[in-house]
Amino acid sequence: MENFDLFVVGAGSGGVRAARTAAALGARVAIAEQSRVGGTCVIRGCVPKKLLVTASRFRSEATDAIGFGWGVESVGHNWSALRDRIGEEVGRLESLYRKGLDGSRVTIFDERAAVEAAGRVRLASGQAISAEHIIVATGATPTPLDIPGAEHCITSDDVFALPHLPARVVIIGGGYIALEFAGIFKGLGADVIVLHRGASVLRGFDPDIQSGIASAYLDQGIDMHLNTEVHRIEALPVGYRVTDRAGTVYEGDVILNATGRRPNTKAAAGALALTPSGAIDVDERYATSLEGVYAIGDAIGQLNLTPVAIRQGQWLAESLFGKAECRAPDFGLTPTAVFSTPEIASVGMTEREARTALPNIAVYRTNFRPLRAAVAGSPERVMMKLVVDKRSDRVLGMHMVGRDAAEIIQMGAISLQRGITKREFDRTVALHPSIAEEFVTMRSHD
Ligand code: NDP
Repeated sequence: MENFDLFVVGAGSGGVRAARTAAALGARVAIAEQSRVGGTCVIRGCVPKKLLVTASRFRSEATDAIGFGWGVESVGHNWSALRDRIGEEVGRLESLYRKGLDGSRVTIFDERAAVEAAGRVRLASGQAISAEHIIVATGATPTPLDIPGAEHCITSDDVFALPHLPARVVIIGGGYIALEFAGIFKGLGADVIVLHRGASVLRGFDPDIQSGIASAYLDQGIDMHLNTEVHRIEALPVGYRVTDRAGTVYEGDVILNATGRRPNTKAAAGALALTPSGAIDVDERYATSLEGVYAIGDAIGQLNLTPVAIRQGQWLAESLFGKAECRAPDFGLTPTAVFSTPEIASVGMTEREARTALPNIAVYRTNFRPLRAAVAGSPERVMMKLVVDKRSDRVLGMHMVGRDAAEIIQMGAISLQRGITKREFDRTVALHPSIAEEFVTMRSHD
């Protein structure tokens, strides 16, 4: 039986990092991937999605340009050209990932693998392989809807292969993917309806973010329906009809199911214990119920974010094969962004979390029309918010809806990580004129 020090199941962000780190530390490593090397982030997630977001924003840039004196003749868009360019870029990145693994002398098996027992995996071809350590990094897949006609939906995975840009899109859900693709389709020129079962979108985000993005989308003409539970979907001669529980109907050429992703646990195949929500159960060192078998990334259903999976993979490989740090990474101050348009980003506690955890909170908030919007005549607005512990003066949370929010909050996350106080924000000299300067000039609080 072929033998390795480490066998990684799944060549996505977390798996590839774990494999390369272990190999660099001298381990004999193999990795199995049933689909394309790079995983969700590179092949059908973050990377191609961000390119679609970029593409979708040129429409409003062009409209804004008119306010600045530019003559803009046509804003026609060629979907297949965009789709193919993105496909080429994804292909290029995939081959870089593959080269990286080859260069690190990681053996790649282009097939499915499943954990059979402690120290043993079996490939789809039937071959059994032994390994002292196994890491399951199999990611997550879209959760299917459980309603009549659910088969008519596509998921975000399918968007990248659409033959043409649909004229009317109905999106079910109110999370990251729903809001990102609502902005993408609207920006590219489609009519967009969002149907969300809750009273506010983006569960877990700060309430000012939830209301800020909902009203920005309404301003842009995205048809947002909250408290709307979808009941059934039917095919029409052209397009589909979605009916909600109140009997209201909505029509679209494409129905996008964006109701979450669930851990992909096929590779655990009954060998590993799962949590009640169906993720692979791990302890604080990512060890599963089976000796020598670990799991990381979306498969453990904790924080489904690429940088988290990468850090888990790196830490785990280092702790198994080398310079072990004693404690697993702390993800308490992980920044996150939703690439809607306008963009959303957050780090640290929401106002609600802070009020629950601490007795004395100050909330600094600003909501304004940026300079360019006035000249462009656009409805663009920015919301920025700091949540501060009054007793220690520490900044607990930083939240933003608006242009470049991800870039700005990434930098803010460094200072929160260092335990920055509001006084230190105030002492920082503003960089004028910028949007980010508002974070260091906030003086009055609720
Ligand atoms: P999310 O968990 O963000 O959102 C799922 C949405 O679907 C929620 O609004 C939820 O409503 C709703 N929902 C769940 N079940 C049903 C149902 N049966 N019927 C109707 N609505 C339902 O998942 P996404 O699919 O948007 O994204 C998956 C994960 O991928 C995210 O959690 C995120 O971690 C990651 N991701 C990160 C991105 C980024 O970093 N920019 C981009 C895309 C994805 P409710 O709130 O009521 O539960």
